Order: sequence, then C-alpha cells, then structure tokens
Amino acid sequence: MSDPILPGATLGMLGGGQLGRMSLLAGRQMGYRFAVLEPKAPCSAGAVAEEHFVAPYHDAAALARFAAKVQVATLEFENIPAATLDALEGKVAVRPGRQALRICQNRAREKAFLSENGFPCAPHALVESLEQLQEAAGRIGFPCVLKTADFGYDGKGQQRLESEADLPPAWESLAGERAVLEGWVDFLGEYSVICGRNSRGEQCAFPLLHNTHCNHILHTSTSPAGLDPALEKAAVELAAAIADQLDLVGLVAVELFLTPEGWLVNELAPRPHNSGHLTIDGHFTSQFEQHVRLVCGLAPGATDQHTPACMLNLIGTAATPPPELLADLLAEPRAKLHLYDKGEARPGRKMGHVTFLADRVATARQLADEWDQRLSAPQK
Ligand code: AMP
Repeated sequence: MSDPILPGATLGMLGGGQLGRMSLLAGRQMGYRFAVLEPKAPCSAGAVAEEHFVAPYHDAAALARFAAKVQVATLEFENIPAATLDALEGKVAVRPGRQALRICQNRAREKAFLSENGFPCAPHALVESLEQLQEAAGRIGFPCVLKTADFGYDGKGQQRLESEADLPPAWESLAGERAVLEGWVDFLGEYSVICGRNSRGEQCAFPLLHNTHCNHILHTSTSPAGLDPALEKAAVELAAAIADQLDLVGLVAVELFLTPEGWLVNELAPRPHNSGHLTIDGHFTSQFEQHVRLVCGLAPGATDQHTPACMLNLIGTAATPPPELLADLLAEPRAKLHLYDKGEARPGRKMGHVTFLADRVATARQLADEWDQRLSAPQK
C-alpha cells in the first residue's frame, strides 16, 4: 500500500456502529468501497458496506480474509482488542496507529500520557487496592470520581464519591478492576476539538464545539461555541499538540473542561466523535469525510463552518416519535435528520441525531431546545 490511496480502493472498518456508518457514507460518495468487520449482524455500518465480515474480533481466519480484501483498515471505536491489531499488523496498515490506540484504550495510560507530556488534566491517581483508593482520595479530596481504567464511555463504569464512607462499596463494586480516581471538576462548560493528521503530518482541526450532557451521554453540540477567540485558539492548539504527540494518522477528538484557570483535558477518542456530527451539515468538510481523507493519505479538506448549527442526539425512543411528529420534524426546513438503522430503541441507545441550521447560532440552539421538548414529551 502507498499513499495516497485513491477512490476505487476498498477500505476496512473495524466496528459496525453509527460512526462507521457515517464514515462509509462519506467515503462511498467519494468512490471508495468498504468492508466492515463486526460480530453483530445486522449492524448500522454493515447495512451500507459492500461486504460485512460477521466474526468475533479474535477470529484469525476472518481477520486474514478481511486484511486481504482491504488497502487500509481503520476503526470506529477504540476498544479493539490488541490481539486483533496483532493479527492485522504486517498484512495491512491500521490507522490510527497502535500507539495512539494503546494510549486511548485505557484511562490510566491516557492520563499518564497527558501528564507526562505536560497536557493539563484533573488531579488523578491509578488505584489497584482499597488502601490506594483511600490514600488517593485523601490527597485529591471530595467530591471525586472513580472510573474503571478499561472500556469506559458515556459515563459507564463511573461513580461519584462524596465522602470516606463511599470508598469501600465503590472499591467492592469494581470487583478487582483497575481504576482511576479523578478530582471532581467544577467546570464552566464542556467543549471538544476534533483534529487530525495524515501520514505526511499534515494537520487539520475543526472549530471548537460546545457540548451539553444528560445522564453522562452527549445531549447537544453547538458551533460556533461563542467563546473568546483567544480561548478557542488555545483549545485548538492544545488538541493539535496532542495529535502530534500521539503521532496520529486519522482523527482524534479531545474532550475538554473549561475552568476559571483554563482548559483541562477530560478524554481522548482516536476516531470521529459524536460532538462532530454537526460538521456533516454545517461545515465544508464533515468529520467523516476527513476521517476517510486522512487514513487514505489525502490532503485534509477545509474545516471551516459555513452555517451555524446545533445537533440534538436522538436517544432511545426520541428517535421513533409518532408519525405526525416525525413528519413535523421533517417539515422543519433547516433540520437535517440522520437515523442510524440500529433496530431496537433501548433506553440510552444512540439511535440518530438531528442538526438544526440557522443564520444565527442562538436560533439553531433554540430550535434544538424546542424539538428536544417535543420529542422527549411522553407519547400518548
Ligand atoms: P467521560 O466518560 O469520562 O467523558 O465522562 C462523562 C461525563 O461525566 C463528562 O462529559 C462529564 O460531564 C462528567 N465527568 C467526567 N469526569 C468528570 C470530572 N472529573 N469532573 C466533573 N465531571 C466529570
């Protein structure tokens, strides 16, 4: 394989969720073909791929067939087992690279990477016993939050701790899993920057996004974020420095807390990110097209925003309103509906999103708030 990988080539996607689906839709529009490897069938990305390998991530024979089919492999979630990467390496490049994945797969390694390289983050400690938890809580103070080191996202595996009395049950509930204790951050707001690099080190960054959460799950993202330009510039520079230090090829989403003292990094995701969905409708290049461009070694597309936008996540049954309400939403001239074809609308499951466009960001935000009320009202 040599860069650039041009349209007509087949790209491999590890993971079959909505981030894969939207990357595939962007790539197919450019003329790329796709193979998805995902154990569950049917799946959101598999439905729009040329080929879906239905196999566990550790199935050596399926991985060999997948690798033989594709010119480069990428991913849509970071918890791809190391054994899968071992099986693919040497046969086909996996982008982002192994190093970036190793760091972002595990909170303890991620926090160590951030602090060793001088990137600001909340006070934290790795804990492997109740004694270490008690010692760390004494140093960091209450409230604090205990997060499992592996497989955490959308607030899964997290507990807020208020006092000494919370420590023994919290430790028990981990059942021996390693965890990271973090100081609670009284943030002014949550933001993210999605940036990326190609194999030649050419960089790009989307403008800052302002995010709100509900039950630890992303609820809305808005852009422009409306902060002081110097503060926005500092966030983008921080994210770009992280991408460089990770030696990344692909995208990384840098989740940030804004505090009175400045930016703190909360979390890194080496892939497209839920907060960047509004780039499909609001920006010259979407994060998904950018993902494809970067892993194929193409030049990054322009990341400027052409229209102010607010994205509302459709979680659980919010994505399946009564037909009249759905028709009303579709009659909203500047609302862009995206449904992920995920089947059953379980509580907390991300089923789709809608992006509201407007001439002013306040109007986009207001439309999203109004539709949030209508879609979340109990249905008769
Ligand atoms: P995470 O899965 O680590 O991104 O956490 C999900 C959400 O929990 C974040 O977006 C925040 O709203 C909240 N959260 C996580 N860690 C902290 C913290 N140290 N202080 C305050 N809020 C937090």
